[in-house]
Amino acid sequence: MLIEQSYAALPPVLFAKATLMSVATPKLVIANDALAGELGLPREWLHSDAALEMLAGNAPAAHGEPLAMAYAGHQFGGFNPSLGDGRAMLFGDVEIGDGTRRELHLKGTGRTTYSRGADGRATLSAMLREYIISEAMHGLGLPTTRSLAVVETGERVWRQRPEQGAVLTRVAKSHVRVGTFQYLAARGETAAIAALVAHEIARHMSGVVGPAGFLDEVIARQARLIAGWMSFGFIHGVMNTDNMQIAGETIDYGPCAFMDGFDPQKVFSSIDENGRYAYDKQPMIGLWNLTRLAECLLPLLANEREAAIKIAEECLQRFMPQFEAEFERRMLTKLGISDLEQAGLITKTLQQMANARADFTQFFTALTRQVAGREVELLPFFISEVAMMEWRAEWDALRGQDALALMAAHNPIYIARNHRVEAALTAVGEGNLLPMHELLIGLQKPFEERTELTSLELAPSAQEEVLQTFCGT
Ligand code: AMP
Ligand code: MG
Repeated sequence: MLIEQSYAALPPVLFAKATLMSVATPKLVIANDALAGELGLPREWLHSDAALEMLAGNAPAAHGEPLAMAYAGHQFGGFNPSLGDGRAMLFGDVEIGDGTRRELHLKGTGRTTYSRGADGRATLSAMLREYIISEAMHGLGLPTTRSLAVVETGERVWRQRPEQGAVLTRVAKSHVRVGTFQYLAARGETAAIAALVAHEIARHMSGVVGPAGFLDEVIARQARLIAGWMSFGFIHGVMNTDNMQIAGETIDYGPCAFMDGFDPQKVFSSIDENGRYAYDKQPMIGLWNLTRLAECLLPLLANEREAAIKIAEECLQRFMPQFEAEFERRMLTKLGISDLEQAGLITKTLQQMANARADFTQFFTALTRQVAGREVELLPFFISEVAMMEWRAEWDALRGQDALALMAAHNPIYIARNHRVEAALTAVGEGNLLPMHELLIGLQKPFEERTELTSLELAPSAQEEVLQTFCGT
């Protein structure tokens, strides 16, 4: 595997050299053979001692220094001009089979220039949580950073109590975020902004031309991504500008969650007291973040500020229609309706789901099974029989011949339910990896029904319900 460090060719303001801490007793906890295949890495290598040393951050990078990337960010609305990789580092990038490149990022490898007093480490449970949920996202067909492996370091990490330390190898098209542009803009580094735009276009935006084309493309990708999340009941939980990636992949699996019972105002994050990142706020927050990106690009969009603002506004105005079109297309498909003029039914469906706190995933699975001619009870998903009959009459009238195929391909049976993720992580803590592997089997092919995985379909009981999730540190 030829690992390069392409990012080092960018202006030095964008990164700092990083030193990998060495880990005494690394142990491979989980490795992603399928992803290794996509990267062109042999399975045997992934499970070798040489790989373990690299994935633990022990191997000196033969190709050059690892780098910590600098970025800024609006965190819950407040701007911090100096964030950056505080506990992760860019190990390098590799070319894969189709000629595109992927970056390898090691998370939990020790302090960097940007650690700001924190320890630079990561816990095993937070890294496995990222592994599991990023696999779920990929299984659903949505763009995401991937997880190649999690290695236990054998060292203690102190949080509220001592925890197992770990290193996650994260794979992404690029780790450049909205916050990376903000870092440069806050320092007046206009030439570096232009270089970064060119870098991102060359890396993963073939066919895109110029700063306005770039902005348009980032906007379109975020509109599609957020619509995709919402069609599966996903709440990102911490949509700070440093957690919005330019390539349009889901990044930063901190306090995120897939909803059980549908509540449009649902928030999971323990620190999101005002509901800034609630389920139904995600498109608005996405647009807010993209507006911050557009501000950074103004000097490149036109010589005159007024003209630049006009161009930026035209681009930003395309976000909501693109989000809505994609959300409607996805939701209608989930209902087995191919006529895109029927979006009125989506509002009614979501409204009645909210009234009944219908389980987001089970509801659509039940509809799919109904269309397949299986015996299912729909009444539990409605507040009354009348409500169900009225809704059904409308739904029945709109479905086409191809309904079942559409529904089966868009309604997952298995999602990463919080209580199952937590139970799997607890079992790992007790030395039992089986529940995690079983969960992953369902999540990697979420549209394929398996009788042995029926329990993964279940919503949490009142005792099992996880009400809050915490930032993954
Ligand atoms: P996050 O909440 O994961 O998006 O992280 C926000 C910022 O805090 C990023 O700059 C991280 O690198 C940094 N950070 C989070 N946890 C740690 C840690 N344990 N050590 C150093 N930096 C951290
Ligand atoms: Mg982050």
